[in-house]
Amino acid sequence: MKPKIIVSKCLGFENCRYNGQTIPDKFVDKMKEFAEIITVCPEVEIGLGIPRQPVRLGRDGEEIRMIQPAEEIDVTEKMAAFTRDFLSSHNDIDGFIMKNRSPSCGINDVKIYHNLSKLSSSNRGQGFFGGQLEIYFPSAAVEDEGRLKNLQIREHFLTKLYVNTRFRATKKENTMKALVEFHTRHKYLFLAYNQSAYRTGGKIVANHDKLPVPEVYTLYESNLIQILAKAVKPANNINSIHHIFGGFSQNLSSNEKKFFLNTVEEYRDERVPLTTVIHLLKSYAIRFDSQFVKDQIFLNPFPDDLVNLRDSGKRQK
Ligand code: SF4
Repeated sequence: MKPKIIVSKCLGFENCRYNGQTIPDKFVDKMKEFAEIITVCPEVEIGLGIPRQPVRLGRDGEEIRMIQPAEEIDVTEKMAAFTRDFLSSHNDIDGFIMKNRSPSCGINDVKIYHNLSKLSSSNRGQGFFGGQLEIYFPSAAVEDEGRLKNLQIREHFLTKLYVNTRFRATKKENTMKALVEFHTRHKYLFLAYNQSAYRTGGKIVANHDKLPVPEVYTLYESNLIQILAKAVKPANNINSIHHIFGGFSQNLSSNEKKFFLNTVEEYRDERVPLTTVIHLLKSYAIRFDSQFVKDQIFLNPFPDDLVNLRDSGKRQK
């Protein structure tokens, strides 16, 4: 099953920007072969033409309104209705990639003027459409193309996206066996992300109260949101790495152990990427034929091709 994502249409799909242009993006382009993509341009959908005068967001008392200052048109109600209708008509969405800083699609860092006058100053907030995504899809992986140039942000986005897709496939099976298997295969990934929420997930799966299966899935899903709420820290990845390595170390020579532990320290110091350490663990899993480790999502959270170091930005924020 492929991830199902919604993407801003101007990110290389159509010339729908206010100035009649498009903004191709390498990562979005690469996602085309890996994901089922639905595109959307909220401004065109509400009837604003191409080209058009840019819209902006401004405060009007407690409210934020969307206006086209050059034409003195207020499109707030139209945009609110479109956002509600569009987002409530889709389900099973694993993630979103939105155009950054757009008053419509932006998920943060969008200019919001202090009032509706042309001269007012501004601060930063969410776009009209982009700001609603996490309300309608609380578990979805949501990012903009600008932030996704950062490798750590991209890794977190892809990890969450693919967890969502695998969970969607598991939900289709709707059995306790499938849920136990999902939880087991994600053991080291979830331990790295959030140990206590991982253990809560274990209790939900154990189902000592003998709850009906759909209820167990609902509980598990809200716990999954907790597990993936924040990007994983390298130190927590190292905990999972040591746990996995512990299963192999007694069969390794002291030189092999030393080499592995040095490589882990290089990862801690950001001298090598996580994939270097993961490759060593994979080689041990093959050598010692550990099916449990081979099956761990921690070793393969998403297709490697989606994190191409040559086209990504800096590793750290
Ligand atoms: S940012 Fe959103 S609303 Fe603006 S052109 Fe792109 S898709 Fe359309």
